[in-house]
Amino acid sequence: MIRCRFCGKRAVEVLKQYRLSLCRDCYVKFYERQVERAVKRYKIVKSGEKVLACVSGGKDSSAMLAVMKSLSETADFKLEAMFIDLGIRDYSEMSLNVVEKLCEKLDVNLNVVRLSDYGIRLENINTKRKKCSACGTAKRYLMNRFARENGFDCVATGHTSDDILAFFFKNWLSGNFSWSAKFLPRTEGFDKMVTKVRPLYLSSEKENMLYCVCRSVPFLNENCPYAPSKDVWKDIIYDIERKKPGFKRCFVMNLVKYLKSKTHTGSNGESYRYCRLCGEITTSDICAFCRLKQRNTPVK
Ligand code: SF4
Ligand code: ZN
Repeated sequence: MIRCRFCGKRAVEVLKQYRLSLCRDCYVKFYERQVERAVKRYKIVKSGEKVLACVSGGKDSSAMLAVMKSLSETADFKLEAMFIDLGIRDYSEMSLNVVEKLCEKLDVNLNVVRLSDYGIRLENINTKRKKCSACGTAKRYLMNRFARENGFDCVATGHTSDDILAFFFKNWLSGNFSWSAKFLPRTEGFDKMVTKVRPLYLSSEKENMLYCVCRSVPFLNENCPYAPSKDVWKDIIYDIERKKPGFKRCFVMNLVKYLKSKTHTGSNGESYRYCRLCGEITTSDICAFCRLKQRNTPVK
């Protein structure tokens, strides 16, 4: 039997990158301390801020809400949750049920926004790839607008070190270098854009899953029916991590150092204007969300 390094009880996991075996309770404390350190190191949340945590019901955003709730008990920030009902058949209903249970368990106020209220239905979009791109546009728009209109200082998402690395490689290989500010643990807001924060920047999907299981945090262990079947980049990243434990954490930490030396403006230097239809920030005449609305059949 492998024993916990801290208390000697039966270990539930061997964390290769830290050379640690931990029991259930010690893992929960260890994980929360790791996230707390990242939040302090990168000043992810500032004192007195009102944070809107966006939760989908999946393991990562559920872990994010749970750990942020624990941190909010000793740190000086306020926390509420937001769920976007994307209207994806049974999946959205199951996700909302889980998020309601999660928020009740954690005693966090839940805000629900429905995409159908804006006349958009993902079912009307033909391909899976286009659905995901429309869904991403809608989520970014609704998170930002809801947070700003309801007095939140920042929007927290459940992005993990795995997500950051996958985005980084995809963008780097396609020669897109205008992404940099989006890969930091905290992207400062400007004008109508609310600050975005990523408290799980240094945490991996596996660590989040283990935290949910060890702390009995409710989450939906099912993929969206529109999710792409395979993410090649994530497979490559897992493969490197298996061969070189600690690779992901080390890579994203150095990515922050590199980007901080390059990024000086919150708006990433891009020029912007206001959407002719809704007034939100955009780089074109009509924003991506309003273009999406125009292409969709209004809900009767
Ligand atoms: Fe949206 Fe589902 Fe695509 Fe995720 S997989 S972006 S939830 S449509
Ligand atoms: Zn618009």
